[in-house]
Formats: sequence, C-alpha cells, structure tokens
Amino acid sequence: RESWASDSSDSVISSGSDSDGRLYKVILLGEHGVGKTSLAGEGNTYDRSIVVDGEEASLVVFDIWDQWLQNHCMKMGDAYIIVYSVTDKVSFEKASELRIQLRRARQTEDIPIILVGNKSDLVRSREVSVDEGRACAVVFDCKFIETSAALHHNVKDLFEGIVRQIRLRKDSKED
Ligand code: GDP
Repeated sequence: RESWASDSSDSVISSGSDSDGRLYKVILLGEHGVGKTSLAGEGNTYDRSIVVDGEEASLVVFDIWDQWLQNHCMKMGDAYIIVYSVTDKVSFEKASELRIQLRRARQTEDIPIILVGNKSDLVRSREVSVDEGRACAVVFDCKFIETSAALHHNVKDLFEGIVRQIRLRKDSKED
C-alpha cells in the first residue's frame, strides 16, 4: 500500500483501492473553507470503505490546503474533486483556475474530475446558482454535483460517482 505524506498544511488526497488491489488517489482541490475536510471526513473520519456496484472500494482522505502541495498533487491523482462553496463566488472562480491548472499539468490525460458545489443547505446565502455550476462543468468537461456535507446530502453519490468514473476509464484502457 502506498502511503501518503500528510503534510498538515495542504489540501488533499484520498486513495481508494479496488478488488484488484490497485490504489487510487482521489484528490480534493478547492479554496480554504469550502468544505473539503467535511466532505472527506463524513462517516468514518478519513477512512471510508464503500461498496459501489457490488464491488468494494476504500478511500482514505488527507486534508491538504497548502498551495504548493495542491500544485504537486496535480500530477499524482487518479481522479480529482474540485470543490467550491455555493455561498462563495470567489471559491467558484478559484475552481475554474484549478481546472485550468489541472489541464496544464495533465495535458493529454483523460482523468476523472467532478466539480462540486458544496453547502447547498445554505439557501439564503447562495451566491452561485445550480445553473452556473452546471454550465461551468460543461466548459470543464466534467461531472457536476451539488452537496451538503452538513446535511449529508449527495456526499455518498459524490464518492460513488468518482469510483465509477475511475473504473470506467480503467476498463476502457484494458479493453
Ligand atoms: P476546508 O477548508 O475546505 O477543508 O473546509 P471545512 O471542511 O473545514 O469547512 C469549513 C467550514 O464550513 C466549517 O465550519 C464547516 O462546518 C462548514 N461546512 C462545510 N460543509 C458545509 C455544508 O455543506 N453546509 C454548511 N452549512 N456548512 C458547511
């Protein structure tokens, strides 16, 4: 098993392994305060094992928010979750930046990315609409989901979605 440096000062990583023993690194990117830690830690803290389509996958999440490490992680993830807060327009703009950086770092690779608008429960302080999020995901060429880590809404779907996307790409490579 690969082990990850968990520098306490940056944002990221989760790893999951499939039944074939391969370890998948899922990296959470996003502005400070958007809810990465909350999303990652839901259920068992930093350690999740989920059954997706009848097959188990385990995810371990590390919280990293340091810019340097985020950049570093652009090259090592098998999949990425780009998180913004629907209550924070600046974090939404930052998500676009991260997408561009990711594209630059992984030019030709087809890596799974999910754009996540978190804090959907905070209806009255919403600054980014669902449509804006969706439109952004079209431009990003990635999946989109709104979550509420606070209400545990869609979080399971998010992690299942990322596992499915990793498997899909893996399967198409093997064919
Ligand atoms: P990180 O810096 O991206 O890891 O963000 P955290 O997970 O530490 O969350 C920042 C703050 O937002 C904390 O006070 C969380 O409790 C709060 N938070 C995270 N997710 C949600 C959510 O879905 N809804 C609400 N209302 N608050 C949230």
